[in-house]
Parts: sequence; C-alpha cells; structure tokens
Amino acid sequence: MAQKGLLIIVSAPSGAGKMTLLNKVQEQVGQFATTISATTRQPRVTEEDGREYYFLTRDDFEKRIAAREFVEWAEVHGNLYGTLACELERCLATGKDVILELDVQGMRSFKAIGRQGIYFFFLPPSLEELERRLRTRGANDEADLALRMKNAEAEMVAKDEYDYIIVNDDLDRAAAEMCAALTEERKKAAASA
Ligand code: 5GP
Repeated sequence: MAQKGLLIIVSAPSGAGKMTLLNKVQEQVGQFATTISATTRQPRVTEEDGREYYFLTRDDFEKRIAAREFVEWAEVHGNLYGTLACELERCLATGKDVILELDVQGMRSFKAIGRQGIYFFFLPPSLEELERRLRTRGANDEADLALRMKNAEAEMVAKDEYDYIIVNDDLDRAAAEMCAALTEERKKAAASA
C-alpha cells in the first residue's frame, strides 16, 4: 500500500512520560494514527479493550503468532505485546502519520522487516526521576517496579539504535524537539518522493 504519512516508531522505558509527550506533540502537528497493540497483560482499571490495547489470552496470542498475524511481537515484563498486521494497515490507510509504540526488541524486529521508519527513543531525565514517576503512578507493586527499573536500564543501552533521542526533562522543550524532527523528516520524504 502506498504510504502517505510518516511511519514513526517510539520506544520509551515505562514512566518516561511517553503519552504526555506524544499528546503534546499531537496538539502541535495534528493527530497521529496510533496502532493499538495486542497484549496478554491484565488491563489497568482505567484501560478498555480496543482503546489502549486489545487484551488477549496467552493462548489466543500464541495462536495468532503461529498464524503470522503479527508484524512484530515481544515478551516484555513477562507479558506478550505485539502489533497486528491488520492494525498497521488500518492506520496506514488513514493517510495520517502512523505511530507504533514498541519496546526495544519490537523496534529491532520492525527494522528487520525493512519498512522505512523514523525511530525515536524517549529518555527520562534520570533513573531517580523515572523511579519517582513509576511510584507516583501507583499502578505497580514493588516487584513490578523493580522489573520495570531493570528493563529501563537495559533499554537505555539501545538508545543509539534510534534516529532521535529525546530527553523528556521539560515537556515543552521535548515536544518542540520532536516536532522539529518530524518537520525535517517530512521535508526529506517530500524531496525523495
Ligand atoms: P505497558 O505495560 O506499560 O503498557 O507497556 C510495557 C511495554 O510494552 C512498553 O515498553 C511498550 O512500549 C511495550 N509495547 C507496547 N505495545 C507493544 C507492541 O505492540 N510491541 C512491542 N514489541 N512492545 C510493545
């Protein structure tokens, strides 16, 4: 399918302020089409099936892997997460910029497919700040918190595999940096079309 918008891949350790930053960016550049991932993790109280995620049983998820329904998938924090091919196509068909939120393993699988994409990594200002944010979010117990902190450190090692690293210390500044990067990428895409 011809791709009209940019394909944007974002990775961020949980607690890096991904949603707040992406919302701010969208206020300035317009709405992205965001792929809704499938996951085997339990929904949080504020989450709804088909809105934040498609919540699947492990059995259903594994059947879909076997049926090659995913463009990428990964095990993160003990749960499976993946992007369904039909979901990606649905978003591409809107003609908007499409955004995929992937962990580092998912980013690598996606790169391997060879589709043109722009890769962003959001960094929290510091590990101390990340821990503080994870604690105030209140959705995690101590074991989950420890796991998320350990994964965050491991993911940050991969940051140089991305096109842009955005430090989410100051929301306005970080959003401006991402908007500038997108403007630059749009120019490049137009020049090569
Ligand atoms: P959370 O449980 O906090 O919603 O997400 C945990 C992690 O799973 C985050 O790092 C997020 O980027 C990652 N994730 C969410 N959806 C997908 C997906 O479709 N594929 C992959 N590989 N990772 C995902």
